[in-house]
Amino acid sequence: MTADAPLLSGPPTDALIVGAGPAGLALAAELSARGLSVRATDPHPHAPFPATYGAWHDDLPGWAQACAAHTWADVRVQTGPQPTPLLRPYTLLDNAALRAALLGRAGPGLTLTAARVSGAIRAAGGWSVQGSQDGQPARWEARVVIDASGHRPALLRQPDRHPDGAALQTAYGIVATFDRPPSAPGAAVWMDYRAPHAPHPDRHGGATFLYAMHLGGDRYFVEETSLIARPAPTRQDLKARLHARLRAQGTPAREVLSDEWVSFPMNTAPPAPDGVLAFGAAAGLVHPISGFQVAGALRDAPAVADAVARALRDGRDPAQAGWDVLWPPERRAARAVHLLGVQALLNLPPQALPAFFEAFFALPPARWHAFLDPRTPPGPLARTMLRLFAHAPAHVRLPLARAALRHAGTSLHALNAAARTLTA
Ligand SMILES: Cc1cc2nc3c(=O)[nH]c(=O)nc-3n(C[C@H](O)[C@H](O)[C@H](O)COP(=O)(O)OP(=O)(O)OC[C@H]3O[C@@H](n4cnc5c(N)ncnc54)[C@H](O)[C@@H]3O)c2cc1C
Repeated sequence: MTADAPLLSGPPTDALIVGAGPAGLALAAELSARGLSVRATDPHPHAPFPATYGAWHDDLPGWAQACAAHTWADVRVQTGPQPTPLLRPYTLLDNAALRAALLGRAGPGLTLTAARVSGAIRAAGGWSVQGSQDGQPARWEARVVIDASGHRPALLRQPDRHPDGAALQTAYGIVATFDRPPSAPGAAVWMDYRAPHAPHPDRHGGATFLYAMHLGGDRYFVEETSLIARPAPTRQDLKARLHARLRAQGTPAREVLSDEWVSFPMNTAPPAPDGVLAFGAAAGLVHPISGFQVAGALRDAPAVADAVARALRDGRDPAQAGWDVLWPPERRAARAVHLLGVQALLNLPPQALPAFFEAFFALPPARWHAFLDPRTPPGPLARTMLRLFAHAPAHVRLPLARAALRHAGTSLHALNAAARTLTA
């Protein structure tokens, strides 16, 4: 510790969590519920979560299912003239209810601190964490530090997490009132690839789809989404496309009540263990194909908290213990298989995406459910990818095969890793 380091800004805690988004708060609640003292830092620790969070209803833990703002039984994708029913209920979370439920699960040792963390160094018995609070330099001490600060992690310094460059999901959405329904009334439309406003997706910077939900009465949430691209469409581009789509289908918005911009990397490699434990989007836990993360973080938090609490009790490295639970060999291998899927998607010409997803959702439901679940082991994932390949039309299969050949090294590595975990 240098002589001019700021004085401690609060009592030492067992854990310090950087970021009180859904992932950070979920882990903070679970750790404090296990009797630990936990400081969750965030510049705005009491502010509502800003994004609109959706999840498959059955992916959410039971207590979080009760935080649904809306749940739709009628869920569809539209990759051609006829909709495909998905027969899997989909939920939009009520962020205030989710926050309240997370805080309700916390133990008495949880402290929310309005502060921004800028660094952490090892110190006797744990970590000295630096940051700022009320515009002044601040310092805290904790036995374990967890970086849950989102897609641009505050502490994690691992340069090769997007070895081929970040591939982004971007989307622009509005909640608005409409004179005529912009999507099926009473339904959630997970993906509508029809493009009345952009008949030649290759000449319009990639295919984008409509993600839309009826919120009741004349209110709808409609979002123009680019699933994954490098480079990705910009906010202005997607906003223009959304309004062009709505005009082209004869359903312009009457009044825009709010809007949202989505942009985050989809191809983040798992972080190497390095003393600070990463959780949530900071840990690259966003699903590389769907972009979902929140339900997974809510499900992972109790097991990670168990491991960290046990390690602290037993005098073992708590960050390593948490990392081992988050990234067992099977999950790392599954991640490698998913990243292969990302390469395949990035190599598909935009006009082939609807046919790809038509083949994807024609898989037996148990298979596509498992493919979108981050806990599915690599073997079944790889088998599903092969089955998808076999059933896709030729104009989809060819670019997929080319992508696999172009990334033969990565493919072999992923499939080897998958094979190793299967034989271990
Ligand atoms: C607009 C949008 C919509 C999304 N929709 C979905 C969806 O429908 N379903 C889904 O599963 N996923 C969705 N995602 C992806 C992902 O799940 C979210 O990004 C999710 O918010 C990640 O949760 P998190 O807690 O890991 O990080 P965040 O929610 O980003 O929270 C990180 C927190 O850390 C704080 N922080 C940052 N830096 C510091 C620092 N230096 N010191 C202290 N605190 C700091 C931030 O203020 C923030 O509160 C969406 C992403 C976006 C951007």
